Amino acid sequence: MVLRYIFKCNRSPEVSGLYLDPRSSRGQAFCLEQLKNNSISIRPISKLKWYSLYFGDMNLSYWEYNTWLANIDFTIVGSGIVGLSCALQLRLRYPKAKIIVLEKGILPQGASTKNAGFACFGSISEILSDLEHHSEEEVQRLIRQRYNGIALLRNTLGDTQIDYQNYGGHELFISENPGLYQKCSEQLPFINALTEPIFGKAGFREHSNSFGFKNILPTYITNSHESQIDTGKMMRALVQKVLKSDITILNGVSVTHFSEKKAAVAVQTDQFEFDTRKLFIATNGFATHLIEEPVRPARAQVLITKPIARLHIKGTFHLDQGYYYFRNVGNSILLGGGRNLNFKGETTFALGETYQIQQRLEQLLKTAILPRTPFEIEHRWSGIMGVGPQKKPIVKVISDNIFCGVRLGGMGIAIGSSIGKELSDLL
Ligand SMILES: Cc1cc2nc3c(=O)[nH]c(=O)nc-3n(C[C@H](O)[C@H](O)[C@H](O)COP(=O)(O)OP(=O)(O)OC[C@H]3O[C@@H](n4cnc5c(N)ncnc54)[C@H](O)[C@@H]3O)c2cc1C
Repeated sequence: MVLRYIFKCNRSPEVSGLYLDPRSSRGQAFCLEQLKNNSISIRPISKLKWYSLYFGDMNLSYWEYNTWLANIDFTIVGSGIVGLSCALQLRLRYPKAKIIVLEKGILPQGASTKNAGFACFGSISEILSDLEHHSEEEVQRLIRQRYNGIALLRNTLGDTQIDYQNYGGHELFISENPGLYQKCSEQLPFINALTEPIFGKAGFREHSNSFGFKNILPTYITNSHESQIDTGKMMRALVQKVLKSDITILNGVSVTHFSEKKAAVAVQTDQFEFDTRKLFIATNGFATHLIEEPVRPARAQVLITKPIARLHIKGTFHLDQGYYYFRNVGNSILLGGGRNLNFKGETTFALGETYQIQQRLEQLLKTAILPRTPFEIEHRWSGIMGVGPQKKPIVKVISDNIFCGVRLGGMGIAIGSSIGKELSDLL
């Protein structure tokens, strides 16, 4: 008799014990119980009973376990754009593999279903700011990564499925900060030279205030390549493609812990435990719950107006060095930002909106974006991004069987598909 498992069963505290591996055909499961008089009783139990002790509340049947959780090749934690893209890429390379995606929310609950849907490469002031902390090559590489990532997303799902619209993107400069506009305007030729190998022609140009915004300088700096997508449609299409590719997505399952075995990883969730050959962590802002990497959660708040008759604003807009961003969604305006009002408070894993930031967003609508147009707010929400000391995703091998692709910052729509591919290519 070979004892294969020694563990404490947390879900059933009176039962702690030694178990044979009940998944081997010859295995017999035993239960070890501490009785009231402190003596120990050891008794054989059925494999099904073992499963129910092992999986606790979930009480999985033999069929459920064998069908969904046995012999898993690849497990992806997180069903955001990175996790789902990684799953699709793995399927392309391993047509017969058993792949599952585990997601703690009933829908994806990070940033991928909450974002503003800008398919953007960086406004001119963002690129200049990046150049203060990164080399020219690094900045160029990041812009190329964003450009290629959007191309990959469009190729994977198709423009109609994601409602891709190329209305162009504009950076607006607030009247109180003419210095920033001056700097960007002077650096325009340099930034165009830097980005020309990517865009194929001059990407940025000056543009007059044709949308009639108030309290901003009369000239924007525009990038005609910038576009917008419908975030919800994109994620729905991605989920559907993943399901059609014979990949299982289990929602409402939070991975709590994992540990390395010889040729596999033991994964613990709040519902059940199982083994997988390889584990891919794509949990972005929540990464530090599972791995030790320099990632901070960064909440971003958003609102959207009710549809506005004859709305003439079309495109994506960056305001006040990108601290605020807005776009049209059909005939509504979606506006987000304001983290700079309370960086500390917005460094949180908790979804939610605050009065301070929501008030500022409404004030901007009234004074700058829709100064002559009455509007009502239809909906407010927030999402959690993953940020860090460097504006660079972490895509790395953690051990022979564990990989991660996290910390997408505010660029995940653009780079999420490529980061998912890079993550899968680590195998
Ligand atoms: C308000 C807002 C606006 C944004 N606007 C833009 C934009 O316009 N353009 C752009 O390019 N980017 C934008 N972003 C950023 C972009 O959305 C993200 O970079 C991108 O979605 C990250 O994708 P991801 O797959 O890495 O992470 P996420 O989408 O965050 O996915 C991670 C998933 O892991 C799940 N998870 C976490 N921990 C566990 C666990 N222990 N067990 C199981 N599941 C777990 C989470 O529930 C989540 O669904 C915005 C973000 C926000 C919040």
